Amino acid sequence: MVIFACMERPVIYFDNAATTRPDQGVLDEVIACMNEEYGNPSSLHAPGRQARVRIEESRRTIARLLNVSPSEIFFTSGGTEANNAILQGCCLGLGYSHVITSPVEHPAVLKPLASLAGKGVEVHYLRVDQAGHVDPRHLEELLDRFPHSLVSLMHANNETGNLLPVKSVASLCAGAGALFHSDTVQTVGKFDMDMQKLGMDFAVGSAHKFYGLKGAGFMYVRSGKFFPPYLQGGGQERNMRAGTENIYGIVGMARALELAHQRMEGDQQHCMELKEACIQMLLKKIPGIHFNGDAQGRSLQTILNVSLPASVDAEMLLPSLDIEGICVSSGSACSSGSSQRSHVMEALGADESKPSLRISFGRYNTMEEVEKLVQVLAKIALS
Ligand code: PLP
Repeated sequence: MVIFACMERPVIYFDNAATTRPDQGVLDEVIACMNEEYGNPSSLHAPGRQARVRIEESRRTIARLLNVSPSEIFFTSGGTEANNAILQGCCLGLGYSHVITSPVEHPAVLKPLASLAGKGVEVHYLRVDQAGHVDPRHLEELLDRFPHSLVSLMHANNETGNLLPVKSVASLCAGAGALFHSDTVQTVGKFDMDMQKLGMDFAVGSAHKFYGLKGAGFMYVRSGKFFPPYLQGGGQERNMRAGTENIYGIVGMARALELAHQRMEGDQQHCMELKEACIQMLLKKIPGIHFNGDAQGRSLQTILNVSLPASVDAEMLLPSLDIEGICVSSGSACSSGSSQRSHVMEALGADESKPSLRISFGRYNTMEEVEKLVQVLAKIALS
């Protein structure tokens, strides 16, 4: 249980897929950097050169952890910018006129694709099964018909946690001559993302999802697949993205990824145990509970999406949990926090009458917190 300085009561935080609390090691590194580095990395004097060194060190760290070349890493403000840049860059810059994607992607992919569709790009949506996994045969069929496509499929779904077999999708795409972009926002820092082994052409990361700061992210662009610059101005990021670099966010992101890799096995095991225990406790305590997606199959250890019995008042669910100091996301709400039905739940054909929740686990959660969450949910569901 964590007591935040700005809050008067303890908080149980199960919303780690929305954002994570920065690691103390990250904060130490960032605060030291803020104290020491004030130069503009583009300036030629000593403080500027020093700031440039910190940025390039961070790039090398991230590149090493992903097994890519530093020249293939471009810093961005986060996952949204990186996804937009890649999709627009491939379609408008490299001339890809067919995109194969799925209806369960994040809005940071679906919305730019909808805009591109208005500019003559044909967007093809893959079928998803009841568990929310894309149909690989449909992908093969579409690649046969449109081999010169950009394929955009997320690694882990942010609402259900469903995992895509990225390696086999990458080899299908390579075999067909298609480009493969994967929104890896939920998996960077959670798995060993060796890009040489996984084989994707484009991937993205967002520091605040792996215990770094908000407002810092990156895109991986495989060498030879570079698209034209998308932000013009001062020529930073090798002309790809102009604008003075967010040095503190970038330094913090590199440290966060280093720490995530050092703790990877332990964090994975810990979250897996919490998720499995949560599933078993919920099944025992709440008759009629249902898990959305492939919760006990091909699924990320940090995300669990549950539907409660229809008798539960959907409007009151989050406020009731909040009163108890428990933070989760509504499984059916879009990212803006509205109570609109989610496109992912719709694609899964989830029962609309049953309110759903996304519980997302992280490094700092404990088994006692899971017990408390289940106890409160059972009280709400059975009252
Ligand atoms: N893609 C996925 C799968 C996400 O979960 C998110 C954040 O929720 C984003 C993209 C957007 O990332 P950012 O907040 O860094 O813009």
